[in-house]
Amino acid sequence: MSVSGLCQVCESAEASHTCDQCGRAVCDQHHDDAFGLCLDCSAEAGGSGGAETGEDPGRSDAGDDVRF
Ligand SMILES: [Zn+2]
Ligand SMILES: [Zn+2]
Repeated sequence: MSVSGLCQVCESAEASHTCDQCGRAVCDQHHDDAFGLCLDCSAEAGGSGGAETGEDPGRSDAGDDVRF
């Protein structure tokens, strides 16, 4: 299956992805592979390099020393 049409963001490049959230067809430049979302949605979902809210991504190895 291929996405036909132009990117809904820039409307100048051929869309090659579809945003999982808003369903828009976007080109490679306006698609965030890490999230599977268009850049608009990925920015809302937390973005990359922005202010982190909630969990600290650096603390993912809490498994050996868990106590309550
Ligand atoms: Zn685009
Ligand atoms: Zn989107």
